[in-house]
Amino acid sequence: MPTSLKSARTKSFADVAQDEVRERVLAIIGDIRSTGDAAVRTYSETFDRWSPESFRLSDERVQEIIAGLDPQVITDIVFVQAQVRGFAEVQLASMADVEVETLPGVFLGHKHVPVQSVGAYVPGGKYPLTASAHMTIVTAKTAGVPRVVACTPPIRGEIPAATVAAMHLAGADEIWILGGVQAVAAMAVGTETMSKVDLIAGPGNAYVAEAKRQLYGEVGIDLFAGPTEILVVADEHADPFLVAVDLLSQAEHGPESPAVLITTSERVGRETMAHIEAILPGMPTADYAGPAWRDFGQVTVVDDLDEAYALADSYAFEHVQILTADPREALDKMRNYGALFLGENTCVSYGDKVIGTNHVLPTLGAARYTGGLWVGKYLRTVTYQEVRNTETSGELGRVCGRAARVELFEGHARSGDVRAAQYLGDSYPW
Ligand code: NAD
Repeated sequence: MPTSLKSARTKSFADVAQDEVRERVLAIIGDIRSTGDAAVRTYSETFDRWSPESFRLSDERVQEIIAGLDPQVITDIVFVQAQVRGFAEVQLASMADVEVETLPGVFLGHKHVPVQSVGAYVPGGKYPLTASAHMTIVTAKTAGVPRVVACTPPIRGEIPAATVAAMHLAGADEIWILGGVQAVAAMAVGTETMSKVDLIAGPGNAYVAEAKRQLYGEVGIDLFAGPTEILVVADEHADPFLVAVDLLSQAEHGPESPAVLITTSERVGRETMAHIEAILPGMPTADYAGPAWRDFGQVTVVDDLDEAYALADSYAFEHVQILTADPREALDKMRNYGALFLGENTCVSYGDKVIGTNHVLPTLGAARYTGGLWVGKYLRTVTYQEVRNTETSGELGRVCGRAARVELFEGHARSGDVRAAQYLGDSYPW
């Protein structure tokens, strides 16, 4: 039986799509739909105190911004983008087109066609999330998306220079300093100055995630990637200091970012909690990590690792870190997670910032039905079919005629009938 050393509220989808968030987002989208750029400017002024002459950066401005950066920042961006691109290319290579002859002369196939235009949202309300530019834009370009529009908010009234550099180096075709719902809505419905896109990708806060949810259908979305979550599964071999540091690394994302420890060792649970209390006050990001741990931090002790995996699966969290003697076991035993981090040599921060897997991941239980962003999310798997053999076409026509009439579809049936008649000499039943 699980024993709770620290319990807390678990957030659900309903918490995020609360009435206040839902209604505000609906109103902003409605205004942008009816008055376009004027509404975009009003909301950017209201939420970000940002109203430049143009929200889109010129190529010259982008070059100026990049020239002002420490060269080490550029070197690191290039390194990380190479990791992201390298893994995305391998994933792309695994997506072979297929064509198979299923009956004599019947050829069925599918191929992967890139989405033609993508809006990459790179968050930046609290932190300039430069790494999200690698994740959304490098991956889209690897998939072969011809037009990528990149949006990020100003950060405390300033253009986030490293993020702009990352967008440019990743291959963004347009760079806009615009955030929140106004950015997502402008990309989805289009304005006088922004041509709309076919799909919007990228993480964001509750407003951004809700805007994507409301606009889905009119525009494609990658997935529901809201406020960050971490869950650690630890046994008695885990180092409680390391567990504490890693839990706080994700709690600092926002005051509502849940950090959960499930452990087979009560000692590891208690020592982790003590380390967190000791570390938190000195963290420069304690304004977020503190409330996140207080209100959404949980520690549960379970009898064995099977119980730990089952409980962890029921959370279906974005990030799951396995700190046990045999971390690879979780690959077989767990089903619901956005990304697994195996063993103490790796950590969620590597996934977030450097290692090359994509950090745009499902939250709030969305891991039950989707994985994270990857090159495949930018591709449409489209099918085709060809019957090269008249005899087989006539035989399919006979089955089609009968099957369609079961469904009362006379028109469909006749398409089969004519082929059965022409190729096999059947008489028309009408
Ligand atoms: P953000 O860019 O998502 O949001 C900032 C924007 O929110 C601002 O531009 C502003 O226009 C808008 N906004 C702020 N307050 C508002 C209000 N009251 N009404 C309407 N709009 C408002 O940046 P953020 O806020 O720092 O959030 C980033 C989020 O992204 C964090 O929650 C983080 O956990 C999450 N994240 C998730 C993943 C993932 O894969 N799931 C990855 C990275 C980051």
